Amino acid sequence: MNTSTLSGHPFVHYSGAKLHVEGVALETVARTHGTPLFVYSKAAMLSALAAYQRGFAGRHAQICYAMKANSTLGVLQVFAQAGCGFDIVSGGELARVIAAGGDAGKVIFSGVGKTRAEMHQALEAGIACFNVESEAELAVLNDVAVERGCKAPISIRVNPNVDPKTHPYISTGLKGNKFGVAHERTLATYQRAAQMPGLRIVGIDCHIGSQITDSAPYLDAMDRMLDLVTAIEAAGIHLEHIDLGGGLGIDYNGDTPPPADALWAQLLAKLDARGFGQRKLMIEPGRSLVGNAGVCVTEVLYLKPGEQKNFCIVDAAMNDLPRPAMYQAFHRIVPLNAHPNRSAMLCDVVGPVCESGDWIGRDREITAQAGEYLAVLSAGAYCVSMSSNYNSRPRAAELLVDGDAVHVLRPRESVTSLFAGEQLR
Ligand SMILES: *Cc1c(COP(=O)(O)O)cnc(C)c1O
Repeated sequence: MNTSTLSGHPFVHYSGAKLHVEGVALETVARTHGTPLFVYSKAAMLSALAAYQRGFAGRHAQICYAMKANSTLGVLQVFAQAGCGFDIVSGGELARVIAAGGDAGKVIFSGVGKTRAEMHQALEAGIACFNVESEAELAVLNDVAVERGCKAPISIRVNPNVDPKTHPYISTGLKGNKFGVAHERTLATYQRAAQMPGLRIVGIDCHIGSQITDSAPYLDAMDRMLDLVTAIEAAGIHLEHIDLGGGLGIDYNGDTPPPADALWAQLLAKLDARGFGQRKLMIEPGRSLVGNAGVCVTEVLYLKPGEQKNFCIVDAAMNDLPRPAMYQAFHRIVPLNAHPNRSAMLCDVVGPVCESGDWIGRDREITAQAGEYLAVLSAGAYCVSMSSNYNSRPRAAELLVDGDAVHVLRPRESVTSLFAGEQLR
């Protein structure tokens, strides 16, 4: 049978006319499990991780999966079993790491608004590092650690002021962003931290943005970080590790980000040239590990031709796939059954939610008829983890495909569970 993979999605392919994830025909699982349905390829996750591992071969490095991209326990388990640590942004995420069998000792805690309760929880669990984002947070963390009679391991997140040339909502390393400590304040902040009895300085951190498709911003950030490391160490403060964050992009629509191993070959060459080749490295990739490992299968409910626009109304919506509504993001949409001889209708693919912002794709050529299925590609990152119950819609089911095997990671939510905790007075 004729097999063709989709560019950027090595584990998603048509076998004959039917779309598969690894060895599993999506139409079969859609009929069994219903739609909307998220299907993830384990091999795709491990292959994305392997590109980083190749890049770091022979180096002292820890990959911490930025789990806000997809925090489903079964996804965390894949990365925990492959040796990953985790980059968390809340106490809830820490609880998920532990529930998935992850190692708290490989957890780093990012975020501008950590609460005292979250600091206690993370110190109790024994995490590897707090990435502190302000001088005010430093003082509170010191206080909490002193109260507990321990020392909190810290890095300071630097805002290196480099432009990652991505969408403004996912650019985090520019002066006007809320993230990190200003480049110019970094040394003074480290000197302040060094005086605090409840803190132990272990590293330095930055994260410049997301969906970055060029290596130049990383090389700039690395240079600026190494300048700071030099200045901080000249002041007598040793840094065990350098954390360059996450942010590497994926192919949504013909995007061409550098492969992780190629990017790190460039970055490591710079580290070596500047004499930091032996330093421990940390990274926090999210999207690039899971984004193209997942698809969302949805059923076409109605075709609605109009005078100005045609609509293809599907059963997935902005509560399942929030990225188009939030960032005007693009997801490829392909049929589960290829019909090369059918004529296509140019239409907007939209969900049932009562918002004009509820669209999944604009001006797409759609061949599917009502009752047939579509797959929304690149749905492994920032979809389910950002999903909601808006319009009292139960969250979709999630499956993990491993070769020919299918594992349910999360059954579809029931409607009654949505209001199970609510009370009438
Ligand atoms: C979101 C985030 C990441 C991961 O970003 P990706 O673009 O998904 O790789 C890494 N570090 C921090 C601090 C983040 O907030």
